[in-house]
Amino acid sequence: MRADLNVPLDGDKITDDGRVRASVPTIKALADAGARVIVTAHLGRPKGAPDPKFSLAPAAARLGELLGAEVALANDLVGESAKAVVEALTDGGVVMLENVRFDARETSKDDAERAALADELAAFADAFVSDGFGVVHRKQASVYDVAQKLPAYVGGLVDAELGVLRKLTDDLERPYVVVLGGAKVSDKLGVIANLLSKVDKLLIGGGMAYTFLKAQGHEVGTSLLQEDQLDQVRGFLAEAEKRGVELVLVDVLVTAEFGNVEHDVVGTDAIPADKMGLDIGPKSRELFASKLADAKTVFWNGPMGVFEIETYAGGTRAVAEALVKSDAFTVVGGGDSAAAVRALGLPEDGFSHISTGGGASLEFLEGKELPGISVFAKNEGDR
Ligand code: ADP
Ligand code: MG
Repeated sequence: MRADLNVPLDGDKITDDGRVRASVPTIKALADAGARVIVTAHLGRPKGAPDPKFSLAPAAARLGELLGAEVALANDLVGESAKAVVEALTDGGVVMLENVRFDARETSKDDAERAALADELAAFADAFVSDGFGVVHRKQASVYDVAQKLPAYVGGLVDAELGVLRKLTDDLERPYVVVLGGAKVSDKLGVIANLLSKVDKLLIGGGMAYTFLKAQGHEVGTSLLQEDQLDQVRGFLAEAEKRGVELVLVDVLVTAEFGNVEHDVVGTDAIPADKMGLDIGPKSRELFASKLADAKTVFWNGPMGVFEIETYAGGTRAVAEALVKSDAFTVVGGGDSAAAVRALGLPEDGFSHISTGGGASLEFLEGKELPGISVFAKNEGDR
């Protein structure tokens, strides 16, 4: 089974175990039915070689706690350790293989390289269950290729996630507001082109806001900036204006150095050259809350600021609180966004759905084909 256990860590401590908890029901159902469950997963972005910093050990330990049974972790993916761990597996048992991204073939663009790894993984098992929703948008060996090597099935988590997200694409209630933020700017800019034709309002904060501000002609100091995508963003701004989609941000919190708590609140037209913006300001928070107040459908991906530091958590908290207050259909997607909601102590049931996938849910909303899902259409008859 491919799971998404990509949890945020502080050293070797899991700071938010949401993805592990979300993976438990399918793993448990398989184990309870007597299956021998081999879980594959990734953690972070190692460079295609083993790196102890990205070991799945904390995730395996947490999974074991939640299952109430030890989960042995092989110290490699398809090597001697993996073979031994799989060999020792008994009916109803659960084991994990080490980070799939320790093997460069996992993310290779070369079909043959990925297929070779998928063959080695498939040799361990009789069937494949795809339940890592956070990675179904990736054409990777443990997600896409292995599904073609074995009888393959969609897991309960992926099925549930798709069910909720379909409500955001099929006859949704308007106004439809999308809130975007976070730090993976280049990944996320691509989705905007597509969303502009679907949303009524697009609220942009977080690290991606600065590329928009720069495109509008503002100076952004040392803030996060995707210089090579400025032209693309200028195009978005023109398109948004043509379609009457509102794009707003009025003030930000700026500081001299990343992580520094001393800061100033400035208008978006007054960011000093030697400072960086780390959160949306109080006026923007109010404005965003007012734009969200009459929404009937909301999708939110990406924190509004560096919420890990209390000083810069206010923007993210304001958006989260506006969603909790709202009676709209509200979906939060993204590892860090979901973690932020919980870290800020907001009630999880204050949202209609908290998705385990950020990139995956965004690409689904864009209407893009998700390789980890479309592969099932290729395997006629399987589900
Ligand atoms: P998600 O996982 O929800 O999709 P991302 O991974 O894209 O979100 O981004 C999350 C990260 O973005 C957080 O760690 C947060 O600190 C960072 N972030 C938010 N705003 C800024 C900013 N203005 N500058 C730098 N980093 C930011
Ligand atoms: Mg993230």
